Amino acid sequence: MLSSSGGHPPNPPRVRDLSELPKAHLHLHFTGSMRPATLLELADKYGVRLPEALTDALTSGEPPRLRATDERGWFRFQRLYDAARSCLREPDDIRRLVREAAEEEVRDGSGWLEIQVDPTSYAPRLGGLIPALEIILDAVDAATRDTGIGMRVLVAANRMKHPLDARTLARLAVRYADRGIVGFGLSNDERRGMARDFDRAFAIAREGGLLSAPHGGELAGPASVRDCLDDLEADRIGHGVRAAEDPRLLRRLADRQVTCEVCPASNVALGVYDKPEDVPLRTLFEAGVPLALGADDPLLFGSRLAAQYEIARNHHGFTDTELAELARQSVRGSTAPEDTKAKLLSGVDDWLTAPA
Ligand SMILES: [Zn+2]
Repeated sequence: MLSSSGGHPPNPPRVRDLSELPKAHLHLHFTGSMRPATLLELADKYGVRLPEALTDALTSGEPPRLRATDERGWFRFQRLYDAARSCLREPDDIRRLVREAAEEEVRDGSGWLEIQVDPTSYAPRLGGLIPALEIILDAVDAATRDTGIGMRVLVAANRMKHPLDARTLARLAVRYADRGIVGFGLSNDERRGMARDFDRAFAIAREGGLLSAPHGGELAGPASVRDCLDDLEADRIGHGVRAAEDPRLLRRLADRQVTCEVCPASNVALGVYDKPEDVPLRTLFEAGVPLALGADDPLLFGSRLAAQYEIARNHHGFTDTELAELARQSVRGSTAPEDTKAKLLSGVDDWLTAPA
């Protein structure tokens, strides 16, 4: 209805577009970054019969119902992930995955991506560990050229494997530090074994100048985050959300400015929390713990980076000023060069101050 003065109807309150908010993405796994349509196409090309739960998730965009908080649920999740990974067979598949991941990042306003990969998983089909890593790094270079996004790689060891394997990977990661590897991670079931079993691998990585960024405080509680800090000298924590259960640990993370790579949609899909509003985003944010929201495995969880900021807005009442601060924290927690950081941070200011 027109107003009585005969002018225009009142404008609805402007909602800033979160896919235009410049940000950095620090928690994205390699296979998990694939577009669903690409996986379906590759499965068809190679005659791979994907598990029904996976095809259902890919076609509906709804995450498979998994309770990864129990071991059987986690095992099922890993089986789905393995099925997806088995469709990446040729260097062209790797190049396509990385290019498309970069395109999706650009679409979501990400100006810097750190993708994590365990090259061991791809080595048998790509001629060994070193060729696999080189193909991945070449693909990252090409995607950077094609899309303009800054992109680096974290090599992640698998916690379910022997710590000696992790040391081999750490040495390899250090060797390729000048080719775009910036950090060393540790993924898979954090309830298995101890973080300190991997302390030598992390020491090798740190001595080689790499960032320490293990997963912790997702499937296990605050003690697991403390282990990452004490035994692996973590600079960042993959997830770390369960630190919210321990106020002293929150203070420690805030004092040391250890960024937690929090992945709300993943947490809900895997049953770490029942609902998006249960993810303790506010607790962490208000304790002063730097956060970098991440999508983890959008292939399986059905949502990418900007959607994580939507969760903060829609389920936790983050204002645009607070969302801008979350974006700044993601940039500050990244390994981006200072000029890239400065550019992204000024883009955040522009997003916030742009007139309606
Ligand atoms: Zn992860």
